[in-house]
Amino acid sequence: MLVQKIKSLEEEIELNRSFLEMLFDAIPNPIFYKDNNGVYRHGNEAFSKTILGLHKDEITGKSLYDFPDRIPKELANIYYAKDRELLETPGTQNYEAEVKCADNTVRHYNFYKATFISQSNEVLGIVGVMLDISEHKKAIKELDEKNTVLNNLSITDPLTLLYNRRHFQEIFERKTSMLIHHHQPFALLLIDIDFFKDYNDSFGHKKGDDVLQNISNVLRRSFSRPIDFVFRLGGEEFGVLFNYTEVEQAVYSAKKLLNEIEDLDIPAANTAVSHSITVSAGLGLINCINDVKSSLNYHYDEIDKLLYHAKKNGRNQFSYKIYD
Ligand code: GH3
Ligand code: MG
Ligand code: MG
Repeated sequence: MLVQKIKSLEEEIELNRSFLEMLFDAIPNPIFYKDNNGVYRHGNEAFSKTILGLHKDEITGKSLYDFPDRIPKELANIYYAKDRELLETPGTQNYEAEVKCADNTVRHYNFYKATFISQSNEVLGIVGVMLDISEHKKAIKELDEKNTVLNNLSITDPLTLLYNRRHFQEIFERKTSMLIHHHQPFALLLIDIDFFKDYNDSFGHKKGDDVLQNISNVLRRSFSRPIDFVFRLGGEEFGVLFNYTEVEQAVYSAKKLLNEIEDLDIPAANTAVSHSITVSAGLGLINCINDVKSSLNYHYDEIDKLLYHAKKNGRNQFSYKIYD
């Protein structure tokens, strides 16, 4: 009677065991169970095949460091440290890690792990389920890249590929903040092409666009430090925000720029000033900000007046002022 009872219990246990095994194998996520010494006691089909490329039986009784060609030591160290952490503070654990799979691809997995605790509160081991998040990560990366492209487009002038006016405001504010907090003076150079209407009228809009691009290239070359920012502010007007330490150095940069533009030797339609296309400019050397809120409008208007002065004074020149 007792023997029969034991036999039937054994059959029931075996049935439950094989049911559990079948259930684990039917789950597509890798699942494993390790004892409290880090020795694998069980791995389902997905774990053994996808991750280790071995038969289930080849895993049982082994530890992380027993598969050096399948679990590289650096990764084994990471998993080992995580296992220790969980065994020392029993409960659950969730983290993301890279995994070298049996097909030699490195994929990203989320690990969901929990300590397995006996009725007498003894930690017996760790169960773990892995979720492949590689596609999800790839999608996020692609989305980030697309966002970067979109963001760049939103701050770029399509004809010249310089920054647009929208970005100008942002950078002006950044420079203002650097001046206030780090005493870093900056210069604003406003540039306007001379007699550009005449040029368009004589040579056509397409040729006019070419001039805008050529001048943009000179600007980009002349102000190419990472802290220099060149903008097309509208039509045939450009702006440059750059840092300077010596007034002479900033003034020289503006002078050199005007020369380089004239040296492009683009034949002018109106030759009252030069046979080549020229620009006029206003240069503000900003050393001090009194009112952050009105600073952009105030300095912009001021420097635009300097530009207007350069125009009135004969074009192909610039005026400058220091704001202390
Ligand atoms: P000034 O020396 O006083 O600046 O004279 P200007 O002729 O350059 O100034 P005005 O403001 O009268 O004319 C600006 C011209 O710039 C008018 C317009 O045809 C031209 N323009 C503005 N945007 C573009 C553009 O995107 N492409 C081309 N080709 N021309 C443009
Ligand atoms: Mg203009
Ligand atoms: Mg003009």
